[in-house]
Amino acid sequence: MPIPSLWTQWRSLRARIRQADPLVLFFDYDGTLTPIVAHPSKARLSRELRERLRKLSRLPGVWVALVSGRALRDLKQKVSVAGLFYVGNHGLEVQGPGFRHVNPAARKSRPVLRRIKQLLQKGLRPLPGAWVEDKGLTLSVHYRQAKPENHPRVETLVYEIAAPFLLERQVRVTTGKMVCEIRPPVHWTKGTVVSWLLTRESVLSKGQKLLPLYAGDDLTDEDAFKALQNRGITVTVGRASPLTLARYQVGSPREIGRLLKEILEIRQETAG
Ligand SMILES: [Mg+2]
Repeated sequence: MPIPSLWTQWRSLRARIRQADPLVLFFDYDGTLTPIVAHPSKARLSRELRERLRKLSRLPGVWVALVSGRALRDLKQKVSVAGLFYVGNHGLEVQGPGFRHVNPAARKSRPVLRRIKQLLQKGLRPLPGAWVEDKGLTLSVHYRQAKPENHPRVETLVYEIAAPFLLERQVRVTTGKMVCEIRPPVHWTKGTVVSWLLTRESVLSKGQKLLPLYAGDDLTDEDAFKALQNRGITVTVGRASPLTLARYQVGSPREIGRLLKEILEIRQETAG
């Protein structure tokens, strides 16, 4: 059964969003706040959306967190709004107003990742358009710009190079949209970090009427949809996978822009 559009259910969701205290908004970045582009460096946040995020984060009883596979530094530079929670490397790095956390186990994997990076750079040489991004605590192999007939070769190569390290449980490998990721062997996902942040925030706010809302477009966001099943509003962006655990869907990042505007209006009324 296809999942419903967010807008067909909007009347009842509006009421929940109005009453939530706090309302905790989680957004993925690429493909959710910005359209998917050929090279990750080109994914820029529009001025309009940046302004909406800024205004939302300043409202009483509203928290805004950005949850991305990008390095924390990169994400912060791209968004550059003060007072948000920033989650980088799928949760391995978190920074919020007054705190910063780096997963200690992930830090230890740096030397292994450095070794794998060298092997990948060498192995990918015959496959133009595929390249390794060093995100500090993880590596990404991007191949959107490689010839489509070479895509399976890139994936195979990544697994071949990672295999000995996988066997030793020194890394994990995950795949996303035209990207393979080499990660530390810790089971810490967007889902884990969302639950972790909510526990933290509900302690801070006593959590009476806490409502989380999460929007994301990729496979890694499914962990967050799962963590919020039965307790929040979850939205998948773009063509929904038949297996998605999100409750609602929207067609594109443009509709996420509209969602931000609607939430802003609802909460500005409440805030008087
Ligand atoms: Mg995304």
